[in-house]
Amino acid sequence: MSHSPAIGQELLNFATELYPICRSITGNGLRETLRLIQRRIPLRIHEVNSGTKVFDWEVPLEWNIEGALVLDPDGRTVVDFAAHNLHIVSYSEPVDARLDLAALKSRLHVHASNPDWIPYRTSYYVRNWGFCLPRRVLEALPRGRYRVTVSSRLEAGSLSYGEFLLPGKTREEMLLFTHACHPSLANDNTSGLAVATRLARWLAESPRRFTYRIVFAPGTIGSLCWLMRNEKNLGRIRHGLVLGLLGDAAPLTYKESRRGTAEIDAIARHVLREREPDSRVIPFEPYGYDERQLCSPGFDLPVGRLTRSVNDGYPQYHSSADDLGLLRADALARSLEACQQIIMTVEGNRRFINLNPKGEPRLGKRDLYGSTGGQSPATRERAMLWVLSQSDGTQSLLDIAEKSQLGFAVIQRAAAELENARLLRAKSGGAAVKRAGSRRRASRR
Ligand code: ZN
Repeated sequence: MSHSPAIGQELLNFATELYPICRSITGNGLRETLRLIQRRIPLRIHEVNSGTKVFDWEVPLEWNIEGALVLDPDGRTVVDFAAHNLHIVSYSEPVDARLDLAALKSRLHVHASNPDWIPYRTSYYVRNWGFCLPRRVLEALPRGRYRVTVSSRLEAGSLSYGEFLLPGKTREEMLLFTHACHPSLANDNTSGLAVATRLARWLAESPRRFTYRIVFAPGTIGSLCWLMRNEKNLGRIRHGLVLGLLGDAAPLTYKESRRGTAEIDAIARHVLREREPDSRVIPFEPYGYDERQLCSPGFDLPVGRLTRSVNDGYPQYHSSADDLGLLRADALARSLEACQQIIMTVEGNRRFINLNPKGEPRLGKRDLYGSTGGQSPATRERAMLWVLSQSDGTQSLLDIAEKSQLGFAVIQRAAAELENARLLRAKSGGAAVKRAGSRRRASRR
């Protein structure tokens, strides 16, 4: 799976298209984002009314904004929302006021370490208003009386999220989740949106054992809305990944599920080690993105998280410097490939039973010796011997790949050949796995 530069550029183009939109946890920017995704995949957009109780939370009023300005004592514009979405504290209430510099300053937010960056601030659940600006601009403001206008609306409306459901051969599911609520932040949002959208399109064209749900929702309240509306079906989720921060130059980072022992944890560890030697696996912590909700003890879903840098793990995080210049086409493409490889491993990781367990079966008699598909005869034979030796129904192909250090794809191919030669049969997984389906898949190889 060598990556194609065209895919990286396509991902970068979509991230670029999404970047200027003023997203928040509700409102038209979020809807516009979902509609742009909908032009690429048949996303179903769901709306949850303001005021809806969601576990310990409540869907807030819908927020929309047309403009916001700070004018200095001479009437000159010193901060203009039109110049950058981050200039306004997200969820700022409408304001039209005159105030002295000292009073204004309590409403102005600057970046803690860089004087030229605009920080990203929100006030979703406390009525408030404020502006964000570079410290250099703040420090140059003259004394006097300022005029401030925020043309926003906070009114009963709804929270939007998008879901693409892709049925597979079984009703068991894999969940892919990405947040969709950050305005004009490139790595921390548009990279995840672009990769998840392209991944969904690839999945739609791929044979699927599992059913997939790809969800694009605002952080925290959005995942809680999704969890509430889908609570009775959560038992079907066998694997899941939260996606985000996938376009910067940092190596891939997998954050384990809260369980730490889920199959997705073993699969992601294996794939990352194979793909990027400097990749990292970190344990679960109750801080980060929507794994906080998906892995909360009342759900405890087998969901890990794939990013490059982690939340709060790079200097530009949550500032205007997290712009398109931070995104790399090759990093985006390799992130997509890692997701694809994880999913292919999820799809292929089954347990088998050796149907000729007394002694080694004679491979030559069944035409299983020799080279095939660019593999050396020795590797092919070793892979088959490993699969036969371990297939008593307890060891998965991933377990065998780990023990043999032969790589999952090599082991998977050996199992398929042995299955075709009737030396192996798939152990039926959950009741939902249709055996005819898995036979067909194997024989197609
Ligand atoms: Zn963020």
